[in-house]
Amino acid sequence: MKKYTVAVLAGDGIGPEVTDACERVLSRIQDTSGAFELDLQRHDAGAHTFLDAGVALPDETLAATRSADATLLAAMGLPSVRYPDGREVAPQIELRERLDLFAGVRPIRSIPGVPGPLSDPRAHGLDSVLIRESTEGLFAGRERTEFASDGTWAKNEVVMTRSGCERVVRAAFQLAATRRRHIDRQPRVTLVDKANVLGTFAFFREIFESIAGEFPDVHSDCRYVDAMALELVRRPWEFDVIVTENLFGDILSDLGAGLIGGLGMAPSADIGTHHAVFQPCHGTAPDIAGHGLANPTAMILSAAMMLEWLGQRHDDAALTQSAVLIEQAVDEAFRPGDLRSVEVGGNANCQLITEAILRSIDTVG
Ligand code: ATP
Ligand code: MG
Repeated sequence: MKKYTVAVLAGDGIGPEVTDACERVLSRIQDTSGAFELDLQRHDAGAHTFLDAGVALPDETLAATRSADATLLAAMGLPSVRYPDGREVAPQIELRERLDLFAGVRPIRSIPGVPGPLSDPRAHGLDSVLIRESTEGLFAGRERTEFASDGTWAKNEVVMTRSGCERVVRAAFQLAATRRRHIDRQPRVTLVDKANVLGTFAFFREIFESIAGEFPDVHSDCRYVDAMALELVRRPWEFDVIVTENLFGDILSDLGAGLIGGLGMAPSADIGTHHAVFQPCHGTAPDIAGHGLANPTAMILSAAMMLEWLGQRHDDAALTQSAVLIEQAVDEAFRPGDLRSVEVGGNANCQLITEAILRSIDTVG
């Protein structure tokens, strides 16, 4: 039986709560399949680690994520815990840099029975994926801000490299060409930029257009980010794979999470050439931490993305089947419409949602 090592970083706030829930689901899925073994190994990192040990991402943890087959991360950081220079402790961002995880993959898939903000029935069938470039662009400058000594200005530099743009655009086209869709449609990649205003984005667009030529079976088009914000609210069902720059991706992926019922429903993956980290889109939600109210679905669906990625990488169909089974089980748990997380005004807590998903694994599996 094939064995896969997974580094598990539970982190802070609601992180440990959703991690416990996710481990229960993974252990059930492993028993149901019987064809692989997941060796889940917990490691310390985060704001609490920083308070205890003076370091947010210990060397042992970083080494463990490098040697594991994949990393599962819940959420890290707390508003009150900061480095001496005032920045929030955020080892998850450091991990992205250290492991060179350049593609932030965020599915915008609606789950039946989960209310979204749009009344159009087509908004209940969303099946898009947003890919956010995660190593450069407008997001990568916090620590490189220049401030005028007299306090009259602050300045950041935006850098986009040819290799950085090429690898994320290529990842988007490869995903569009091969991804498992929930609805039948022509593969399409949409670039979101602001090429009319910033030269860096014109550069990004030119690279996008040249790579698009390598994928004749995938339709391609471009949108300005302002127009895209409007379209994602007006007709989000039209998009397939969306690829964009770091900061735009950060903003639009929260919009995407809003379309599918909140951050608690939105999984993500940060993927590089050699490593991948799977984590929900949400943060540590300190306002609800410790009360068992967190929705574990985003974390559980992130684990499904992990199984799918491992399955492809190791050509192991049992893992892919288990990924599909988790998604189906989540869909079946929510389909009747009475499982409503606190985020959307319901009262289903972490335990209730986890148990509903475990039951539906038993029924679907
Ligand atoms: P970060 O800076 O790490 O992105 P954030 O400040 O944007 O974090 P989150 O921690 O993601 O904020 O949470 C925003 C709000 O969404 C929280 O206050 C919480 O009420 C809600 N929320 C987030 N995740 C969940 C979840 N899994 N279940 C229920 N509610 C959640
Ligand atoms: Mg946020």
